[in-house]
Order: sequence, then C-alpha cells, then structure tokens
Amino acid sequence: MGCIFCEIIEKKRLAKFIYEDEFAVAFEDINPQAPVHALIVPKKHIPTILDIEEGDKPLIGHLFTIANKIAKDKDVADRGFRLVMNCNEESGQTVFHIHLHVLGGRFMHWPPG
Ligand code: 5GP
Ligand code: ZN
Repeated sequence: MGCIFCEIIEKKRLAKFIYEDEFAVAFEDINPQAPVHALIVPKKHIPTILDIEEGDKPLIGHLFTIANKIAKDKDVADRGFRLVMNCNEESGQTVFHIHLHVLGGRFMHWPPG
C-alpha cells in the first residue's frame, strides 16, 4: 500500500536530493547503474505511464526540463545521456510511482538489456 517514492517526497524516507520544486523532485538512485543515475519523480502519485491523464501533460513535459538541467549540472549533456521510464513488469518497473531515470557518464548499450 505504501509508496516509497511518496515517502521520499514527504521526507519520511531519506534520499540524496538534487532538485525540488512545487511539482517534482529529483534524487540519486540508491543502486546506481551508471556514474550518473538520478531519478526525477513528480510529486503527484501516478503509478505507471498508463495512468497519465490529459491534464498531466505539462507535468510530464516538466520532468524533461528537469532532466535537461540535471544533465547539464552533472556534465553529461554534451557527452550524451539516456532517459528511461519503465512501464510494468516486462520493462523492469519495480517502483509504481512514475519516474524518469537520468543515466550518464559511460557508454550506453543498444539494444538495451
Ligand atoms: P524502476 O525499476 O521502477 O524503473 O526503477 C526504480 C529505481 O528506484 C531503481 O533504479 C532503484 O534502484 C531505485 N530505488 C528503489 N528504492 C529506492 C530508495 O529507497 N531510494 C532511492 N534513492 N532509490 C530507490
Ligand atoms: Zn507514490
């Protein structure tokens, strides 16, 4: 029932925050898969991409502007970086509160695993 990302947003669970505003937060992933691995999370609890509604469009766009800022702040913008948002079991989604992964600082493989 409890959502770990809602707990982080409400500061009931520790995380290394790197960004916060009225609508979203960003923090370091606890189990980084690259030298840069941040998670950008809307404050609104949206379980999966499939639950995004028409009215959420500005919020979803906002996540990308935060990714832009983080990539620049972390010095991976020009080198390149990857944004990932998983949806449901086969993608590997484990936390059911949408989040954009910002991955960078090493070469990424394609196709992804
Ligand atoms: P997903 O697999 O749902 O796309 O991504 C969930 C991500 O959340 C994983 O990369 C995982 O390491 C990260 N994560 C899970 N629990 C915590 C936590 O308590 N704190 C932080 N900072 N990251 C977490
Ligand atoms: Zn949540």
